[in-house]
Amino acid sequence: MPDVHNWQLGRTMAYPYAEHHPNRQFAFVFNINRCLACQTCSMACKSTWTFSEGQEAMWWNNVETKPYGGYPAHWDVRILDLLDQAHQAAGVQPAWTPTPGDPEAPYGSYQGMTVFEAAAHAKPQAEQVLGWMPGEDDWRTPNVFEDAAPDGRRSPGSLGLASEGVRLPEHVAWFFYLQRLCNHCTYPACLAACPRKAIYKRAEDGVVLIDQSRCRGYRKCVEGCPYKKSLYRPTTRVSEKCVACFPRLEGKDPASDGVPMETRCMASCPGRIRLQGLVPVDPDGTWADDPENPVTYLVRHEQVALPLYPQFGTEPNGYYIPPRWAPRPYLRQMFGPGVDAAIAKYRAPSRQLLAVLQLFRASERVIFKYAIEEGPKVFETEIDGQPWEMYDDTVIGFDAAGKEVVRVRVEEPVHTRPAPRPNSI
Ligand code: SF4
Ligand code: SF4
Ligand code: SF4
Repeated sequence: MPDVHNWQLGRTMAYPYAEHHPNRQFAFVFNINRCLACQTCSMACKSTWTFSEGQEAMWWNNVETKPYGGYPAHWDVRILDLLDQAHQAAGVQPAWTPTPGDPEAPYGSYQGMTVFEAAAHAKPQAEQVLGWMPGEDDWRTPNVFEDAAPDGRRSPGSLGLASEGVRLPEHVAWFFYLQRLCNHCTYPACLAACPRKAIYKRAEDGVVLIDQSRCRGYRKCVEGCPYKKSLYRPTTRVSEKCVACFPRLEGKDPASDGVPMETRCMASCPGRIRLQGLVPVDPDGTWADDPENPVTYLVRHEQVALPLYPQFGTEPNGYYIPPRWAPRPYLRQMFGPGVDAAIAKYRAPSRQLLAVLQLFRASERVIFKYAIEEGPKVFETEIDGQPWEMYDDTVIGFDAAGKEVVRVRVEEPVHTRPAPRPNSI
């Protein structure tokens, strides 16, 4: 297999195809701390793309409750277990080596095997990608274990309620919502696994698509995607997946004025947890140094948003601000060794970060640049024993044409309703 560079792992890795990168990459940041689990995103996608016969159990976007929930059931535990078996068979320790201050290895260097490298150690036979095939039952209950918390310390007869109060940094009883769609990976495992070469990555935006006319329904992509975001449709006998709402990305939606627009699941989020971008990519695959792009700023500069299971090796382009209250070992397994620094930055955000966080779900247009107008200091306190100040800055977002599309203040404006109708909207 050729060697390719994976910046999330801080090293080169084996991949079945040589490096070839798009000019811009579809990417997104989700702030787990704010999700309501309302499933508006899931329904927005379903009502747009997967409402037809044969797609009944198909959710390109889903929101599951961790640690028990998963769609398909236990998707991450299954692949983590397979990876563990492969590491044990090869006698390899899947550890991260710290690389402080190295911008090309922001989370350290991963010394374990990816799903591509571990495939050679899989039993009973070697494949391009280490994977597994879900059964039909695994897709049937996308939201089972909703709001279920693991808590070994609940007392019998307490109706399942924790008797102690909860305090940061970790709650005794905890769960969190994980919002998932295809990560439009830089090194897609679905693409690597497909024997028909029916899956391709677009040069203009890095979106990963399945050519429905080439697909023969072998389901190797379903088996190979570690995130289980390629799905089989029995009525057409071909596989399907998230298409990143590409007509909206291309500016072909009537409401878009010809510039890229956020996808349906991003634009519908009432929790304002989602920020979608098209980040500029250098020819060698690294993200261009563009700190005025909000997604690039959050991921590469502030490093407050982290990839989901980077150790799988697909270089996923979905990034998450981790939840503050969940056990750190669990979060480090899920988001890598950058978790502690990311949570510390989110707990006491810099002036710039606090302003950029206001851009989440603020416009239906994809924001390519932002600027900050400084405002007065409105609050000060101590966080973790350190002084912290809040400023009522204004963040301005610009679309692909450089047009201002949103202007938000850090401090939310307060509206007082007129006295005759205090409860009316
Ligand atoms: S719409 Fe937003 S808040 Fe609601 S479940 Fe989806 S990501 Fe969470
Ligand atoms: S998340 Fe899965 S389906 Fe999507 S690009 Fe990556 S490997 Fe392919
Ligand atoms: S980007 Fe579009 S196709 Fe993909 S999950 Fe979201 S709504 Fe569905």
